[in-house]
Amino acid sequence: MSTNSLENHLKHYFGYDSFRAQQEAIIKTVLSGKDCLVIMPTGGGKSLCFQLPALEFEGVTMVISPLIALMKDQVDGLKANGLKAEVYNSSQTTAHQDDVINKICRKELDLVYTAPESLSYLQQVLQPEFISCIAVDEAHCISSWGHDFRPSYKKLGFLKRSLPEVPVIALTATADKATQQDILNQLNISQAQKFVSSFNRENIFLEVKSANKRVEQIIDFIEKQPESCGIIYCLSRKSTEKLAQKLQINNINAKAYHAGLSHEDRIKIQEDFVFDKTQIICATIAFGMGIDKSNVRWVIHYNMPKNVEGYYQEIGRSGRDGLPAHALMFHSYADVIQYRNFIDGAANQEVQLAKLERIKQFAEAKSCRRKILLAYFGEHLTEDCGKCDVCLNPPRFFDGRVHAKKAISAIVRVKEQEPIGTIIDILRGAQNQSIFQNNYHNLKTYGVGKAISWRDWQHYILEMLNLGLIDLAFHDHNRLKLNPVSKKVLFEDFEVKLTKPEVKSKKIPSTVNVKSKPKASTLFEQLKQLRLNIAKDEDIPPYLVFNDASLKEMEIHRPTTLPDFMAISGVTQRKAERFADEFLEVILNFSKKKRKSSKTKSETYQLTLNLLNQGKTVEEIAGERKLKTTTIYSHIAKLFSEGKLTSIEDYVTKTEIEEISQVLKKLDDDSKLKPIHEALNEKIEYGKIRIALAFLNRQ
Ligand code: ADP
Ligand code: ZN
Repeated sequence: MSTNSLENHLKHYFGYDSFRAQQEAIIKTVLSGKDCLVIMPTGGGKSLCFQLPALEFEGVTMVISPLIALMKDQVDGLKANGLKAEVYNSSQTTAHQDDVINKICRKELDLVYTAPESLSYLQQVLQPEFISCIAVDEAHCISSWGHDFRPSYKKLGFLKRSLPEVPVIALTATADKATQQDILNQLNISQAQKFVSSFNRENIFLEVKSANKRVEQIIDFIEKQPESCGIIYCLSRKSTEKLAQKLQINNINAKAYHAGLSHEDRIKIQEDFVFDKTQIICATIAFGMGIDKSNVRWVIHYNMPKNVEGYYQEIGRSGRDGLPAHALMFHSYADVIQYRNFIDGAANQEVQLAKLERIKQFAEAKSCRRKILLAYFGEHLTEDCGKCDVCLNPPRFFDGRVHAKKAISAIVRVKEQEPIGTIIDILRGAQNQSIFQNNYHNLKTYGVGKAISWRDWQHYILEMLNLGLIDLAFHDHNRLKLNPVSKKVLFEDFEVKLTKPEVKSKKIPSTVNVKSKPKASTLFEQLKQLRLNIAKDEDIPPYLVFNDASLKEMEIHRPTTLPDFMAISGVTQRKAERFADEFLEVILNFSKKKRKSSKTKSETYQLTLNLLNQGKTVEEIAGERKLKTTTIYSHIAKLFSEGKLTSIEDYVTKTEIEEISQVLKKLDDDSKLKPIHEALNEKIEYGKIRIALAFLNRQ
């Protein structure tokens, strides 16, 4: 297979102009019949590594995946691009299953997706004659070393034994060495060629903030990018619900998701998110595994994750389309303490504590976060990334000896019996009950740190903890304790470098988003709207029409001819055939407008129609578009008289029409609304009268 024809297929079936790093080498290796182990981060583009070869093979490529719920979406996506793919699973009817088996026998399929449990029912076709390749997705599930072990994966070793000539491609986003080896052993592919990709997801901006006033910070964050989809991970079910509620109160389209909900509820919530109906999900970590939604623009960790692997996986669910995305983590000592309590006494306590320590170091980093993150996975960046909060706002160090001495003296004076809060109160000379009860107002250090705010003291003391200048006794009411370094600070003038607390941070690159302009005012928004309409009509998730990256490219390049449209990344032959006309029309219309800001009449009607079709009420549309309800009613009247809207029952009742019709008979001039309105004792509003007139005129 020449590189040229591979590239042709890449464009024709997947809509891409070039391979991402490693993809081509992997594909060529699979096509040569060799086994492969592919380690690539989430969103790196693993699927293509077996989907493209599947087109070239004569027989079928059997894809084994643990995520039954998502197979249908994946297969729908492939079909939308013109590949021949099917799902085989135990929930299908026998007739459906037989049909898939027959198609395999007739060599009519490129790919079949199935779960490991279903393989035993596929014995009759598990022969070299029919099977050209086996792809084991989420291959780390086979290993009990991995973080997501699935016993059913254990059986997969038989595949290589019974089909020794058929290439196996195992794929995972887990980098851990022990797991890799385990995958090779258990799948019997010890000779497999290994491809380990960079774990650097450059498009994801990394940021960690202190958890003070988290909810306010989150609302602020969302308001800056009001239409972007995101996931907020929380530690407990309760906090997902509480947070979702707080967001809802603030008119934010958010839902909670956790394992305590019914299966149906979870499916529905997940689906609404995938279909862009719900903008934000507040979830426990169970959410998002395998969700193939490419336009998740941000991920927030409400609580610090418990290890770097988890953090990396979760942030990887944002920006799969390659456009800018944002990962924001909130860090609090309370979380660390809670984790320590969880871990305390657990079977593999040592390992878990070490992992917790690493994520804590990441959260507290004073140097490029991406460097630290990648180093964890054994990858070494030579330069700072420039795309994390630390790179953008490098810490401003100062000589912190005086601050440190004051804090340590206070700890000494209270005989190491108090937690952070009380120490700060003493330093700031607070006048509260516990101070007076304990006679702390008579201490020598009382009030010596008055000039520094509470928040800033908290920052300095946490920093001292991180630097190891003092200790925190987790098992002893979180009291602050001295250690040998504390004494050096106090008595030997030990060097202490602290950093200034964060000031207003420098501008962080925005994710793709249109600021709070009214909907559909930009071409991107209009293309999104069109995508939503098509997705609804075809009952597929919007991203299966085109992903955000493709729409953004359309907005920038404004293709007006079919060849130009085809040149957009993500536009496949099949999708061009199906969707080019509609998209080109929107682009042409948009470009025709003389002034971008002034919407033409027909556009404003169309916009109302789109929203009505989404099931919104007149009031909701008026609110959303910042127009009067009468205006929306007049749009409805217009749309009805033009035949674009077939029914008006939702807006005026039969009785109202009847009343209006009676009044009309009595009036000389029936073209003016005011007399009608008055004749009806102002009972029926103008908008409705307008619609009724349109209706009666048609009759
Ligand atoms: P993974 O399975 O590794 O998490 P996917 O296979 O789902 O990742 O791919 C992630 C995204 O990258 C998808 O939206 C996919 O269409 C896109 N993609 C894959 N390969 C390419 C490529 N060569 N050029 C552009 N986009 C690509
Ligand atoms: Zn950086």
